[in-house]
Amino acid sequence: GNPYNVWLSEIMLQQTQVKAVIPYYQRFLSRFPDVFALAAADETTLMGLWAGLGYYARARNLLACARLVVEQHGGMFPDSVEALSALPGIGRSTAGAVLSLSGRGVAPILDGNVRRVFARCFGVAGYTGLPKVQTQLWALAEAHVPGACDVMAYNQGLMDLGATVCTRSKPRCGDCPVQRGCIAHRDGLTAVLPTPKPPAVRRTEHYLVTLDVVSRRLRVQVRPERGIWAGLWMAPMQRLDAAPLDAAPAVVHELTHRRYCLYAQCAPSGPHVAALMPTERWLPLPLADDAPVPAALHRLLAVLGLDDQPV
Ligand code: SF4
Repeated sequence: GNPYNVWLSEIMLQQTQVKAVIPYYQRFLSRFPDVFALAAADETTLMGLWAGLGYYARARNLLACARLVVEQHGGMFPDSVEALSALPGIGRSTAGAVLSLSGRGVAPILDGNVRRVFARCFGVAGYTGLPKVQTQLWALAEAHVPGACDVMAYNQGLMDLGATVCTRSKPRCGDCPVQRGCIAHRDGLTAVLPTPKPPAVRRTEHYLVTLDVVSRRLRVQVRPERGIWAGLWMAPMQRLDAAPLDAAPAVVHELTHRRYCLYAQCAPSGPHVAALMPTERWLPLPLADDAPVPAALHRLLAVLGLDDQPV
């Protein structure tokens, strides 16, 4: 294909299945047969035509890229990976595809499907989104890219292999032309390669929470504008270096990247009227449902029997 057609289809195929892309691709091509027509489109029309494909940044980049190609390159897509990758929405793999599938250069590709094929074929462990693993995969891709007369069929074949045979789940190794050299197949690793994305590392923080209750009122402080529970009212908290040896947390509050362990201590009992700091106030117990406090405070009070709120 010509670079414009290849580029258009490659952008559409990022994050979208071939089957869903085909009607969009045809509609775009008949409406915008070349990069000049696309560059002249207005954004609203373009977004309307794109509607349903998702990942709308792609559509905006598509227009920005077409305009740059017209304004800076006279309507000709550049013919080096470097110059292509400098355009909006074009990464190294898309640049390689545009070059090689339009028959204008030799360059490897490494889209999501091809990453999976390489990780399995060469037994590369590690999450393929990691820079270290990507470097390794790109080196393999570079090392195996064939000469100019074969690169188009090779790259097209690799993409098809990843999309139709070496699929994420249940790869069809029996039908695979590279089965004999494939490490994952040989070692029975197709289910574990490529390595899935590791779960987010959750850091645990420990806090001592002081519950000062006087006459059914709880002393709270407004939390700083940054950090945990910013801007909410919370009983005074003190960050601990580690979990106390002799106590289990009264409440564990889980977020994606954090686990907060809250340990409760009651302020010395007895009649006292603590002077409030400017950031402090008394909140009547039980807390109102709409009190601007973290849910963890409701749970903490419930666990300690200081509130009527359900746990
Ligand atoms: Fe993928 Fe199986 Fe082919 Fe290996 S043999 S590349 S795992 S389909």
